[in-house]
Amino acid sequence: MKANFFKMKQGKLIIFSAPSGSGKTTLVHYLLQQPELNLAFSVSATSRDKRPNEVDGKDYYFMSPETFKHKIKNKEFVEWEEVYRNNFYGTLKSEVERLLNQGKNIIFDIDVKGGLNIKKQYPNQSLAIFVQPPSIEELKKRLESRQTETPEKIKMRIEKAGEEMQYAKDFDVIIVNDDLEKTKKEAYKIVQSFIES
Ligand code: 5GP
Repeated sequence: MKANFFKMKQGKLIIFSAPSGSGKTTLVHYLLQQPELNLAFSVSATSRDKRPNEVDGKDYYFMSPETFKHKIKNKEFVEWEEVYRNNFYGTLKSEVERLLNQGKNIIFDIDVKGGLNIKKQYPNQSLAIFVQPPSIEELKKRLESRQTETPEKIKMRIEKAGEEMQYAKDFDVIIVNDDLEKTKKEAYKIVQSFIES
């Protein structure tokens, strides 16, 4: 049989993971605005409450814990985590397939364990990037100024951040976000060279 020399280049998976408040979402949005990277955002499913500025189907697929659990049973997820108590988050298989079929590179904004899980499942086409906040103190300040969470939820996120930092070493790349403009440029270079490889 003749080899298929014209096989389309396989889409890349760019995974951004970090403690909440480290600035990874800002970086992901910045990269999505660069058309030459041909990136599409993987919209996760979640059972947490929608924030006022969020749009269903764009930021997340919002669903009840029951629907989420039903999808777990049906094996509809590439990975899922109970990131905070009773708040489930997961990447749907249908979402990854949809974007790869469109010929896109996919960018993920997901928690640390989920990120490593995706990397394991797509070892040859993924790059896992850990965005590290300069310090836990700085992280606390950022979460407080964001004013999207209650003090109790901030406390929960700070505790989790300490745990999450331990996984940094398992990622392909660590970016320390101490200066957002500098970090944006660094992230762009890393992603661009991986996509071109
Ligand atoms: P937030 O509630 O601030 O939107 O997200 C909380 C945490 O859940 C963040 O660390 C976010 O990256 C993570 N997260 C979002 N989507 C997914 C997903 O599909 N899978 C996993 N494992 N974590 C996710």
